[in-house]
Amino acid sequence: MTEFTGSVRVRFAPSPTGYLHIGGVRTALFNWLFARHHGGQFILRIEDTDEKRYVPGAADDLMASLRWVGIEWDEGPDIGGPHAPYVQSLRHEAGIYRPFVEQLLENGHAYFSFTTEEELEQLKADALARGVKAFRFRGPEREWPLERQRELAATGRPYTVRLKTPTTGVTAFRDLVRGGDRIEVKNEELYDIVLLKSTGMPLYHLAHLVDDHLMEITHVLRSDEWVASTPYHVLLYQAFGWDPPLFAHLPPILRQDGRGKLSKRKDDVSANRFWERGYLPDAMFNYLALQGWSFDGYTEIMTRAEIVERFSLERVQPSPARWNPEKLLDMNGIYIRRLSTEEVADAIAPYLVRAGFISDPPGDAERAYLLQLTPLIHERLKELGEAPDLLAFFFRDVTYDDPALLIPKKLDAATTAGALRAVRERLLLLEPWDHARLEEELRALGEELALKPGQLFGTIRVAITGRTVAPPLFDTLVALGKQRVLHRLAVAAATLAPATGEHR
Ligand code: GLU
Repeated sequence: MTEFTGSVRVRFAPSPTGYLHIGGVRTALFNWLFARHHGGQFILRIEDTDEKRYVPGAADDLMASLRWVGIEWDEGPDIGGPHAPYVQSLRHEAGIYRPFVEQLLENGHAYFSFTTEEELEQLKADALARGVKAFRFRGPEREWPLERQRELAATGRPYTVRLKTPTTGVTAFRDLVRGGDRIEVKNEELYDIVLLKSTGMPLYHLAHLVDDHLMEITHVLRSDEWVASTPYHVLLYQAFGWDPPLFAHLPPILRQDGRGKLSKRKDDVSANRFWERGYLPDAMFNYLALQGWSFDGYTEIMTRAEIVERFSLERVQPSPARWNPEKLLDMNGIYIRRLSTEEVADAIAPYLVRAGFISDPPGDAERAYLLQLTPLIHERLKELGEAPDLLAFFFRDVTYDDPALLIPKKLDAATTAGALRAVRERLLLLEPWDHARLEEELRALGEELALKPGQLFGTIRVAITGRTVAPPLFDTLVALGKQRVLHRLAVAAATLAPATGEHR
């Protein structure tokens, strides 16, 4: 399908209009994978010609997000390259686009348009009132000689420059994702798009295309929301007399319920948020690779190297991908379980620092404690950011907001308080304070009190952790240490039934 034999050059060309949407990371990733698979180059270019939507800091932020996932570029704004600068506003300042606008004006494929925004709105309203379904603007100046256009422009009248789209015939291109299918539009359905704004700033359609040409981009892999614009781009390539790159429009990512695309407004889709919540870059990379691509339809867990080796546009499906947060969470859990205790301890440390549980950087004793605690949650941890909550009771006193949770099934408050006091009594002199001795003593005590292990261990768990679901009991007792355990048992018992001076 890809008859292409030269060296691959692809680009990710985000507009810095806010944080990077996770779908944008997927687009970048597919470009990166395609480049790496073919031993080609991956270029990052910032498309900031839309001053109204520009958000300061967004470019740095999106670069940090890409690097977090492990997507590195071969040429880009911060590292330069043979086609620098890689930021469109700087390219505009350097006067890169204007000669190309001139070229199109001269060869009759573009024209000065003096229709103002207000007039355009009026024309549109009139057309709709006349029952025209789709308003397709073509300015009267397209029929004027260029000299007349230039003369009027020279008087200082504000103008835009528009592409003179043909009114008959068809424009077609092939899309590599759609199996090389031909996508065709009737030219009469097009309109004369703006190439240059009245401010002199080029619009996306012109700027990206000039850049793709100058940067020798061979394949344009981008979100499918650009399919409808591609015929204009094909016309522009023809107008310049340039060979177009090959196009591949990537499938959209739908929300989990299938109702519409993942949206910035409704969904938690900022790349930063996944970083903050504690997704591992490897898991994110693996999961995103499967958003629209698959190796064989079922293999899911793959290393970066395997994905690079296996990636192909032939296996990018045209149908929409479906976002599945639970699957991503499970995949993250799988990747976390593959880490060593040390790695997990290091990975969760920043979260514990932020929660105020340990100092920054952690001291030796804190790090040793962290290494002791990590195995207790390692298996069940799915987001690193959950660690402070799962481990909170190791760093903070517990409270019994709902004391009823302390009471096992079929017992009452007084009996439970008595059992907790008996446990305390029993552990007071226990030596050594280790898993084996604790288990032995507490099982024996359960039998003496005629309580099922589930009943006794359940109330101890709530007493020492404040919650019903917690890490394995005996290891937790060991890690908490005798003093804190004895204290919490006493407090829990007192919460249920104030002591009478003597234990009951
Ligand atoms: N700046 C465009 C965007 O942010 C790039 C589209 C393209 O890849 O051509 O979507």
